[in-house]
Amino acid sequence: MSEVYGPGELAPIPDDLSIVQFMHDHHHSTRPVPKDFAPWFIEEETGRQIGYEDVKTRTNALAQALHARWGIGELQICIFSPNHVDYPIVTWAAFRLGAIISAANPAYTADELVYQLSATHAKLLVVHPWNLAAGRAAAQAVGLPAARIVLLERVPHAGLVTLAELVAAGAAVPRTFVERALRPGEGRTKLAFLSFSSGTTGLPKAVQIPHFSLIANVVQIASFAKTDPHPPKEHRYRPGDVSMAVLPFYHIYGQVINMHFMPFYGYSVVIIPKFDFLGMLNSIQRYRINFLPVVPPMIVALCKHPAVQKYDLSSVRHIASGAAPLSSELTLQLAKVLPNASVGQGYGMTETCTAISFPQIDMHICTPGSAGVLLPGVVVRVVREDGALAPVGETGELVVYSPSNAVGYLNNDEATRETFRDGWVHTGDEVYVNEKKELFVVDRIKDLIKVKGFQVAPPELEGHILELPDVSDVCVVGVADEYSGEVPRAFVVPSAGAQERIKGSADEAQRIKDTIIKHIADHKVHYKRLAGGVEFIDAVPKNPSGKILRRILRDRTRAAQAAS
Ligand code: AMP
Repeated sequence: MSEVYGPGELAPIPDDLSIVQFMHDHHHSTRPVPKDFAPWFIEEETGRQIGYEDVKTRTNALAQALHARWGIGELQICIFSPNHVDYPIVTWAAFRLGAIISAANPAYTADELVYQLSATHAKLLVVHPWNLAAGRAAAQAVGLPAARIVLLERVPHAGLVTLAELVAAGAAVPRTFVERALRPGEGRTKLAFLSFSSGTTGLPKAVQIPHFSLIANVVQIASFAKTDPHPPKEHRYRPGDVSMAVLPFYHIYGQVINMHFMPFYGYSVVIIPKFDFLGMLNSIQRYRINFLPVVPPMIVALCKHPAVQKYDLSSVRHIASGAAPLSSELTLQLAKVLPNASVGQGYGMTETCTAISFPQIDMHICTPGSAGVLLPGVVVRVVREDGALAPVGETGELVVYSPSNAVGYLNNDEATRETFRDGWVHTGDEVYVNEKKELFVVDRIKDLIKVKGFQVAPPELEGHILELPDVSDVCVVGVADEYSGEVPRAFVVPSAGAQERIKGSADEAQRIKDTIIKHIADHKVHYKRLAGGVEFIDAVPKNPSGKILRRILRDRTRAAQAAS
């Protein structure tokens, strides 16, 4: 096999526009309906609808206020919030001024936010009331004054400016800000997002995502959606349909698909702040949601939770899973639970911003196990260990070219060189592609652990565990889990003193394990917890240059799981 090209025609991708100009001001050939065809967003709790005119007016008023109050230009803004109807407004207002958005996981602890604020040098923090305590603590730790914190909603006596106040102030004065225009070609380098990913190895890093990458992925998906051959009622991608944003806006998937592609294609997006399974079922029923972008644990719940029968889910016509593998068994089970819906998977990565494959358009159920068909404009190489390209149907590392590819990691040339080579992203995923250009993800070669679709970087947990005096070395790997996909387990080499104490006492061994588990639970977001437990070992396997051979412990764990 040589390279494989995603089928279908890719429409032209403008490289002289920011994504806000592309969404609000431009008319692109793949946009199937006028911008005001349907409300762009629906607030889940209140049912409030926000249409194109509203979106545009609020965006411009906020941009004016950010400019007038802080002179915001080309600097970094961090959003620390669950999904919220003003999340896109803040993002687009920032882009009007040339600012860069770095969005943080709202479940982060203050320590984790400090890492992100420091790495991106954020100069403004937009925070939701739920995140105020951690947001304030992190801002103080990095020296960001309270006068540079904006609350998404009012909190009595907080003493911070609110988004509503800024929008009102911006709307009350004539526009004085100057739009950040892009020269032809500049969209390929002018950054929009700094999104965190650990890539193939090491700690989380800020992925540099330019405006062109975002526009490219919207155009790729829209070009693909337009090939839908079915009669209108059956259309999988149908303007006027309702979708939901329960997947987080801080992740590139939520940013590209739910925040941009959906309203671009004429969908109304119900914005759900927090995942709660029964709440999601309720929203599907209440808003007659047609399109569900989900991650595999949500599908596990749809297949197994007894409450599913009590809700009217007949509106659902299409379910697209991503971020982690979805097994053939679950695909087939879900098709039985929701027989009217088509079920499929996409594949993507922060570094490819974001989807490079999408559920096959002409099949009711995607080929079980397949992660979808390649999108137009995508080119893939499947590279064997010996460096040769694998023939069709044989496995190797997925190496991708897509116009949506990001341009590297911020301030990390070494990791950039390793992952981004001449525009190709080396994914660290083991895959094969069949003759229909469907992608199958077989395994993950890289260090990354994915818990419910969330990234967990083993070196981050290892560094934290090594702070404990009873630990002399450690290696963290993912172990299989039916609901979460994987969970982290720590293999720990106790210090000499701890080893002495453990010898005489099983209680002491347990106490040390509990301390390690608590140390992570106290300082890290919930999905990084050591739900796979702690195991003591004599030595961490390493190669002669000291690199951890994580795979040895991972394979040993897999073998033990298979045998049990
Ligand atoms: P992220 O950058 O957080 O989107 O994580 C990207 C990684 O998630 C990929 O490199 C894969 O390891 C994994 N991933 C995404 N989609 C799928 C899928 N459909 N099947 C298996 N793994 C996936």
